[in-house]
Amino acid sequence: MTMRYRTLGKTGLKVSEIGFGGEWLERHPEEESVELMKYASEKGINIIDCWMPDPKSRDIIGKAMKGNRENWFVQGHFGANWHEGQYVRSREMKYVRPSFEDLLTRLQTDYIDLGLIHYVDTVEDWNALQGSDYMKYVMEMKENGTIRHIGMSSHDPKTAATAVRSGLIEMLLFSVNPAFDMLPSGQDLDELLGDGFHYDDRLAGINTERAQLYMLCEEYDVGITVMKGFAGGRLFDKNRSPFGVELTPVQCIHYALSRLGVDSVLCGFDTKEQVDEAVHYEEASESEKDYASVLGNAPLHSYRGECTYCGHCKPCVANLDIAMINKFYDLATIQPEVPESVRSHYLSLERKASECVGCRQCEARCPFGVPIADRMTKAAELFGE
Ligand code: SF4
Ligand code: SF4
Repeated sequence: MTMRYRTLGKTGLKVSEIGFGGEWLERHPEEESVELMKYASEKGINIIDCWMPDPKSRDIIGKAMKGNRENWFVQGHFGANWHEGQYVRSREMKYVRPSFEDLLTRLQTDYIDLGLIHYVDTVEDWNALQGSDYMKYVMEMKENGTIRHIGMSSHDPKTAATAVRSGLIEMLLFSVNPAFDMLPSGQDLDELLGDGFHYDDRLAGINTERAQLYMLCEEYDVGITVMKGFAGGRLFDKNRSPFGVELTPVQCIHYALSRLGVDSVLCGFDTKEQVDEAVHYEEASESEKDYASVLGNAPLHSYRGECTYCGHCKPCVANLDIAMINKFYDLATIQPEVPESVRSHYLSLERKASECVGCRQCEARCPFGVPIADRMTKAAELFGE
């Protein structure tokens, strides 16, 4: 098995498709967790997220990286602080500075590859940060080389899009999985995953703001690393998944890595077996990765009629890139006017929707029942070719 690496947007860092989310490290004896990180490194994993402010997690990462710091890219967060034995999210410098200095000390390093503006989920919060002492500190750390690149973590597509457009961030840590992708901006994620959640029509296909965000990241060359790719493990359990079917880790990873802009899925590992299961993605067959057929036939909610850009409809007799055309069509039709960027992306396609001959052979292969030929006609009308 050989790990594949992707360039994380404009940071230029070559990150492993499978990454390490560190939040479960502190649940195990220190030696065990150090061993687990070393094992992951041997498997080709080279990126770890350390949002955790607790001393134990940070010490573990420091010990595991000792002597091979250059083999890891670390995501460290500004404003995930440890105060009186607890995690406190705060932008107050009296917490932020000592917590960041503690990160460097415990990780036994003098630099952090990816310095993240931690957890910005509203546009108001993002706006309030501009010009603040907190942001000045982030900039200072970038200028003096303590952090190599600036990133941000967020769960909200509107906020993340605002940050991407600002040109200030080079990468984004974002929650991506098929359940979250159906949520509108501002929706409480805990509610979706909570026991009291009942399926209703709020879940109606991929949320366009999320689809737009992924496209925007691609356009601005802002690489995405993924958190919550398994929705906290709920997608593995048909009784707790909003779809009523279970997905495998490989299918969830494939879903996330198939979104535009996504470069690495950071999985929270407890055991070596879980590392193996995730890394197996690198050699999995197409049928093992096939999340589309599973979701297309889900009993509780299906994506019926909605294109998920999975590409199952290939080949097209006219050689159209159906998934791409559908994507541009969706992005164009959610706005009052077709955005220039979307139009130019469409126009750069080698073959246009107007070349569809209406044979409908592709429709039989679409697991989501998308009326493809009709959509090609509409796309041709919309884009004029
Ligand atoms: S209906 Fe159009 S898009 Fe589908 S296979 Fe035929 S030519 Fe291609
Ligand atoms: S039309 Fe259907 S098969 Fe083709 S990319 Fe969209 S969802 Fe997948």
